[in-house]
Amino acid sequence: MCLHAPVLSLSGRNTMNPFSLEGKVALVTGAGRGLGQGIARALAQAGADIVGVVNTSRSTQTRDEIETLGRQYDEIQADLSQTSSAAQVVAQASAFHGHIDILVNNSGIIKRNDSLAYTEEEWDLVVDLNLKSVFFLCQAFARQVISQGTPAKIINIASMLSYKGGFRVPSYTASKSGVKGITMSLANEWAGKGINVNAIAPGYMATDNTENLREDPVRAAEILGRIPAGRWGSADDIGGAAVFLASRASDYVHGFTIAVDGGWLAR
Ligand code: NAD
Repeated sequence: MCLHAPVLSLSGRNTMNPFSLEGKVALVTGAGRGLGQGIARALAQAGADIVGVVNTSRSTQTRDEIETLGRQYDEIQADLSQTSSAAQVVAQASAFHGHIDILVNNSGIIKRNDSLAYTEEEWDLVVDLNLKSVFFLCQAFARQVISQGTPAKIINIASMLSYKGGFRVPSYTASKSGVKGITMSLANEWAGKGINVNAIAPGYMATDNTENLREDPVRAAEILGRIPAGRWGSADDIGGAAVFLASRASDYVHGFTIAVDGGWLAR
């Protein structure tokens, strides 16, 4: 027998591939569009069934893409800026398959304004969704997987503004710096409990989140000019890092934020 031949279990699953997500269920917030949709697609390509959280209308596009890949797609409608949704969302997500294995905290918003004019409402809207809700989803998910007694993976979506200050986005910078911080903090507490907590920091990606920047010719040229890869990222660029952090391949990776930024931070 060839030593490198894939080993199939009785169920026909490829048990040798450390990147395989077969048999896993991933809860992906904001799966209806943008980076969340790209992450859901990549996890499904690796074999996971997906539970997407959307805050507005149902996402037929994500459903179609996941089902075309032969995986199950279930959806929960919830406003995650209400922290009280967290435990309910995790309970609902776990009920579809009787277990849950991966949490991707992707939902996020940005509000641009001069700091001198920034309102408490703009601050709270961003911080409640991007940071407070991320913490309480992590907590609800960790309680669930600890009661299941199974290993699990948490992937939080951070940002370049987890490292830098940015302009006119103080609440976003605070929230994303906080995401990187709690990723390390929770990893310290939960690594010994079989839960890997890590994050991905996307660079400048062409989604709704960056529409204003891309429409401003001066800012768009400045940004593009300092991306070594010479292009904006896309939802497909994020998937590989998500699969790695969701899979056995990253079992010894804890509390780290991986930049997927075309080299922006290295510049
Ligand atoms: P996007 O605006 O296309 O997606 C945001 C997602 O958040 C949507 O799916 C939306 O439904 C969801 N969402 C918004 N409010 C919500 C609420 N109240 N409850 C539940 N879900 C809600 O932007 P994107 O670029 O795909 O952003 C995804 C994540 O990536 C965000 O956390 C964002 O901060 C982060 N990010 C994006 C970039 C970029 O360049 N696009 C860079 C760094 C980080």
